[in-house]
Amino acid sequence: MLADRFIGVGWHAGELISAAAEADDFYFDAFAQVQMQSWSRGRVTLCGDAGYCASPLSGMGTSLALVGSYLLGGELGPAPDGLSSEHVDGALASYDRLMRPYVGKCQDLPSGVDGYAPMSNSDIVITAQVMKWMQRWPFRSFAAKKFFTTADSIALPEYVTAPS
Ligand SMILES: Cc1cc2nc3c(=O)[nH]c(=O)nc-3n(C[C@H](O)[C@H](O)[C@H](O)COP(=O)(O)OP(=O)(O)OC[C@H]3O[C@@H](n4cnc5c(N)ncnc54)[C@H](O)[C@@H]3O)c2cc1C
Repeated sequence: MLADRFIGVGWHAGELISAAAEADDFYFDAFAQVQMQSWSRGRVTLCGDAGYCASPLSGMGTSLALVGSYLLGGELGPAPDGLSSEHVDGALASYDRLMRPYVGKCQDLPSGVDGYAPMSNSDIVITAQVMKWMQRWPFRSFAAKKFFTTADSIALPEYVTAPS
C-alpha cells in the first residue's frame, strides 16, 4: 500500500519504502476511533480501547483505559448480594453514565482525525508550523491547558473497599 501510494514522489521516499519493507519491527496502522452506543450486553462489557479508543492522536488512551477500569471496578465493587444480575445491570449502567461524558471530551480532537494527516504541500507546511509553535512560548501553555483540562475533566468517585 505504501509503495503504491508513495511511488515517484521524490525526496527520500524510495529509500524509506525499501527500508520499511526490510524492517523486522515495521509498524503500520490506521488512526481511528471506536464509537459505540452501548459498551455492555448482558454480563459482558468493554473497557479501554475496545470500547472507546480515542486514537493515538488524542494522547488520552491510557487515561481512558485507567479511568474506565477504575469506574467499572468501583461500580461493580463489593456487593452485599454478590454479582446478581440486578447488581451487575445497575453497575454497568452507572459505569456507562459516569464514563460517557469523559469519553466524549477525550474523543473530541481539535480538528478531527483528518486534520492531522495533511494532504497537500501547503497543509504540510501549516501543520509543521503549528506543531513547532505549540511547543514554544506563548502558545505552549495553551496547548498544555487543552490536554490537562481534558485529562482532568472528570471527578472520580471515592469507592469503599471491601472489608478484609
Ligand atoms: C502508536 C501509538 C501511540 C500512542 N500514544 C499514546 C500516548 O501518547 N498517550 C496515551 O495516553 N495513549 C497513547 N496510545 C494509546 C494507548 O496505548 C492505548 O489507548 C492504551 O494502551 C489502551 O489500553 P487498553 O488496556 O484498553 O488496550 P491495550 O493496551 O491494547 O491492551 C489490550 C491487551 O489485550 C490483549 N489481547 C487482545 N486480544 C486478546 C485475546 N483474545 N485474549 C487475551 N488477550 C488479548 C492484547 O495483547 C493487549 O495486551 C498510543 C497508541 C498507539 C498505538
